[in-house]
Amino acid sequence: MRYAYNEKNDKIEVSFSGERAKCPDCDSIVIGKKGPFKIKHWSHKTKNECDSWYEPITEWHLNWQNLFPIQYREVSISKNGKTHRADLKLKNSLVIEIQNSPIKISEIEEREKFYGENNMIWILNGEKLARKSRITYKFNKKQFSLSFSIPAYSPLVSQYDMDEFKVTLFRNELLLGLKNDKNLINYRENNGNYFEYEFDTDKDFFEIDSELSYLFQKTCNELYDYNAYHKMFSDFNISFKNVKRDNYSQVKLNKLYWRSFIDNMSFPVFIDSLNGLESDLIYWYQENRIIKRSDFINKYLKYT
Ligand SMILES: [Zn+2]
Repeated sequence: MRYAYNEKNDKIEVSFSGERAKCPDCDSIVIGKKGPFKIKHWSHKTKNECDSWYEPITEWHLNWQNLFPIQYREVSISKNGKTHRADLKLKNSLVIEIQNSPIKISEIEEREKFYGENNMIWILNGEKLARKSRITYKFNKKQFSLSFSIPAYSPLVSQYDMDEFKVTLFRNELLLGLKNDKNLINYRENNGNYFEYEFDTDKDFFEIDSELSYLFQKTCNELYDYNAYHKMFSDFNISFKNVKRDNYSQVKLNKLYWRSFIDNMSFPVFIDSLNGLESDLIYWYQENRIIKRSDFINKYLKYT
């Protein structure tokens, strides 16, 4: 285990080999182990580790635990005469189990029952537990969206043929250009009169706005009369949005030598260090979703 208690009842890590402290759970003496090849840890002096779910600490464990303040790391939980140490237990009683090694299906069930009373999540080390699997996905950084509508009907313009208007409008090179733009990542047409373009790059808002307004006006003048545009212009609803949203699509986990115990976990499973996954991302297995690591961490840091 990572933490034990000294005489003053402080929660301490090992500072030198042979150091003595007390196990928080069984009160017996624990001895500090520290060396060049092993992660420092406390070991029971005269008996085996008292938590039957104990597994050796790894650097990977430490990195995850260290994201949270010390009082939430390695927290003892006692229930029905049994005590286990949760890797992390937050203020809202959520338990985070940081799993680096394979685990028996029967034990998954026991742990979820024991820890999951108020909710829990699993974080799995993909490098260790899904070494041969690989994840693929497409990354879009949606940065800009443009939308406008063409009134299908309006009392003011009932005498105009809006279908003709639309056909003429979309023949214009401005709109043809937007549709063929290499940075266009999404185009939607709703109800035949609402048009939305999403680009993964910034665009010149004012330029497009004035070109588009001019195009509406020009088309109105060509097809109808000078007044048509003035009657309709507010119905065009040109609008722009900067949508700074990272979007991961077409997420696919290609499983190879998949460890089936993972499928027995009923609480949310997050896997990091997967092949193909950038280190600032984490994969939510059941939802088949990629999440920014910082968003993930910040969500749980709120409960500290
Ligand atoms: Zn103990």
